[in-house]
Amino acid sequence: MILKPEIEVYFEELKSIRQHLHSCPEVGLETSETVAFIKGKLDEFGVGYEDIGVNSLLAKIEGRGAGKTVAFRSDMDALETVEETGLPYQSTVKGRMHACGHDGHTTTMLAFARYLAEHGEFEGTVLLLFQSGEEGYGGALKVIEDNLFEKYSIDYMFGLHNWPGYAEDQVVVHFGACMASEDRFDLVIRGKSGHASVPHLCVEPFAAVADFVKGAQTIIPRRISAHDKAVISITQVHGGSAYNVIPDEVIIRGNVRTTDDDVQDLIEESLGKLADGIAEMYQVETLFTYNRKHPVLMNSTPELAVNAAARVVGKENVLTQELPAMGSEDYAFYMQKTKGCFVWVGNGVDSPVIHNSKYDFNDTAILVGSSVFVELLNEVMQLP
Ligand SMILES: [Zn+2]
Ligand SMILES: [Zn+2]
Repeated sequence: MILKPEIEVYFEELKSIRQHLHSCPEVGLETSETVAFIKGKLDEFGVGYEDIGVNSLLAKIEGRGAGKTVAFRSDMDALETVEETGLPYQSTVKGRMHACGHDGHTTTMLAFARYLAEHGEFEGTVLLLFQSGEEGYGGALKVIEDNLFEKYSIDYMFGLHNWPGYAEDQVVVHFGACMASEDRFDLVIRGKSGHASVPHLCVEPFAAVADFVKGAQTIIPRRISAHDKAVISITQVHGGSAYNVIPDEVIIRGNVRTTDDDVQDLIEESLGKLADGIAEMYQVETLFTYNRKHPVLMNSTPELAVNAAARVVGKENVLTQELPAMGSEDYAFYMQKTKGCFVWVGNGVDSPVIHNSKYDFNDTAILVGSSVFVELLNEVMQLP
């Protein structure tokens, strides 16, 4: 690996920053202490910043002259889960844990900020976005609603995530979809309650529930091409409270993932038609709502990331044929606004998976990630 020596020299300090962040995790949009800590570091580096979104922070570094505006993003939030690593720097907040490595992403961005402040040679403007609420709290949307793309004409935007299962000298770049969309649906099925002995005098909702659940399983094998990727999972069924009462209402909830916008449309339409069909068949009322939570994360400039990563980890360690993850990432919203891409940096072959109670961020990824960011900026600087 060819890491930036100007960043490597601070490795011990970076590790202690990361371990500090790890020990005091904040969840969702409530990242005010993390932001205060980052502001302190940026003040040390002489980097200016402004608040944006809800408890997100935008640092700004001007280059030597006019040029492109290039943004980089790291997320900062932790998860509501109990840490079981037993590490000396493990979470001091019961029930909260940096189980997705956003402590490491934040530190990576701080390493990059310091590098740019001390050694940056570029034209244009670099924006460093420290984002709250990635884990399903709409943090990226809050930043967009706060007019990030109106305030700044961003030419390119880049981000990264650590990825367990890959070696620390491996970087993954996807051509096209990198991570799946995530949608959530609710179906309320309303019948008419009554005594269990006389279903013919009630409108019994469970036969409709059974047909909906079964029908939903046939959408992917029968409506979606075998070449496309999608998952539909029924995750909740709620209804009834007694052995001898047919209830009025049952609620079904579920989750949909895909890496293709057209497939996403087709699944939404098919689930809606299925709900209409069971309403007709069983004379129940149905109320179907489909909420598109995260879009597909599409990389539009993977070649820039491939070139940049190759200069850090070597061409043979830049993997471009990996399947996209069926998990989602709110960075996808930024890729609807500008060009760029999102890369995975190896967190170690034996690393527990993200969101696991024994997971920990691999500190080497701070050096790899920030070095890749430096090279990504160099790549953009070479563009006409
Ligand atoms: Zn996560
Ligand atoms: Zn994450």
